[in-house]
Amino acid sequence: GTGRFAGRRILVTGAGKGIGRVAVAMLAAEGAEVVAASRAPDDLESLAAETGCRIHAVDLADAAAAAALAEAALPVDALVNNAGIAELAPFVDTTAEMFDRIMAVNARAPMLVAQVVARDWIRRGVKGTIVNVSSIASLWGTPDHAAYGASKAALDSLTMTMAQELGPFGIRTNSVNPVVTLTPMAERAWSDPAKAGSMLARIPLRRFAQPEEVASVIAFLLSDAASMVNGAILPVDGGFTVA
Ligand code: NDP
Repeated sequence: GTGRFAGRRILVTGAGKGIGRVAVAMLAAEGAEVVAASRAPDDLESLAAETGCRIHAVDLADAAAAAALAEAALPVDALVNNAGIAELAPFVDTTAEMFDRIMAVNARAPMLVAQVVARDWIRRGVKGTIVNVSSIASLWGTPDHAAYGASKAALDSLTMTMAQELGPFGIRTNSVNPVVTLTPMAERAWSDPAKAGSMLARIPLRRFAQPEEVASVIAFLLSDAASMVNGAILPVDGGFTVA
């Protein structure tokens, strides 16, 4: 094929819905051979029909399954750790179970998948690249997002350590940190008009992100145009974090 990603195989997790689904379509349209991993099989089947990607159904909350998914996807040239879950609760009501569930999917799984991929790249001398999909919740004290924000701060820390340790092998690791993005997750988290309104008022561009606007930044970071970008924690937030 032709396009920026022609001849490149890219693993995208959480590919069934939202940002991941749009990213798969965008990367495939630019020539990538995409390996899509997600939970609901029906989402994966329709995505394969639409984009021609390869699919793997997996529950990334399971550590062994996360590592096995990565092994099954090899060899790849790039990885997008996009799968994530949000369960909201006031800080004082956040339970140990909720915290562990969120950490398992949002922080532990990206580490486990990236370990398998990075070991393979180091062994083969491949200068691959990884994008972790984080959130502005890692950078801002988001109400009702205690466990979620902690998981994304953990993911940002992983991004920085990976950039440091894998950089000498020519492997780049970066993160995108979106503001509220109009996906099924955001419909659940921001359906209250009062909450959504006060959030919108804090975003200088006065709107939420479209999934395409996050996917395009993921694609940029994966591309050779970002060949010197490593360890960036990149807000995709309409100016929220500096307002
Ligand atoms: P969605 O909930 O819309 O889609 C998430 C996708 O990930 C779904 O296909 C889901 O599959 C899959 N997924 C979730 N858990 C697992 C799991 N345990 N194993 C395998 N696949 C899983 O989310 P978004 O597209 O909104 O979010 C994508 C990423 O962007 C997440 O990391 C999120 O934290 C982050 N983000 C989102 C923002 C937003 O406002 N939407 C803002 C900032 C960051 P299934 O539906 O079958 O469970």
